[in-house]
Amino acid sequence: MSRRRQIYEGKAKILYEGPEPGTLIQYFKDDATAFNAEKKGTISGKGVINNRVSEHIFTLLGNIGIPSHFIRRLNMREQLVKQVEIVPIEVIVRNVAAGSLSKRLGIEEGTPLPHTLLEYCYKDDSLGDPLVAEEHIACFGWATQDEMQDISAMAIRINDFMAGLFAGIGIKLVDFKLEFGRLFDGDFSRIILADEISPDGCRLWDMETNEKLDKDRFRRDLGGEAEAYQEVARRLGLFPEGGPSEVHDLDSERKKRGK
Ligand code: UDP
Repeated sequence: MSRRRQIYEGKAKILYEGPEPGTLIQYFKDDATAFNAEKKGTISGKGVINNRVSEHIFTLLGNIGIPSHFIRRLNMREQLVKQVEIVPIEVIVRNVAAGSLSKRLGIEEGTPLPHTLLEYCYKDDSLGDPLVAEEHIACFGWATQDEMQDISAMAIRINDFMAGLFAGIGIKLVDFKLEFGRLFDGDFSRIILADEISPDGCRLWDMETNEKLDKDRFRRDLGGEAEAYQEVARRLGLFPEGGPSEVHDLDSERKKRGK
């Protein structure tokens, strides 16, 4: 593989310069972090699964008119995306109480919410991605009110679609995180969905048993995280192209190349 310019390395992905102006390559790593990177580890084959799951969901969302940065999957761990300016807000969509919401408000995990709840966190690792109100977003100019209207409307549509998609395969969509970006066309920009949608950023519980099929297995030391990610991909009807050994080799190859 030719050497490419690395633009950014995050906790679970690397961004490289794309083949054409305005494009980037998203490389999905097996690295996993939790609690603002206090806990670090790897989930074998995670990058391959997240690449494929995210491709699948972004493609389906595209079919219902949700614009995203996704262009196409290039190989097992990489996808070509449109370059955007990321809005520094994590949008958390919740259907059932869990995680930080349960802790913050003392609501038992698993309690269904009366209606879908949107929360916003300011993307800043040094601050631990604090929860913010729409007033903070407007006050500090992180996004305009028009942009927030587009973002919240898209987040609700995405939730409706994904909750149905997962319900159809016996999975409860408890909550998930979305990120959006600005796609520029001259002086104008429009909001599109960016980042990824995968078991890294969703809480997915088996409908019958409430078994966790997401990154909480890693966060809470439950074990079986690789199998849980595989189970989600399997139920979505997706399989990695190669077997687990191939999955493993690609990531170690990258590490040997020195990223
Ligand atoms: N989430 C995420 N990245 C973050 C914070 C949250 O992907 O930096 C996802 C998380 O996987 C869960 C949802 O957003 O599906 C809600 O997370 P929560 O606020 O409960 O935070 P946590 O319990 O993960 O600290």
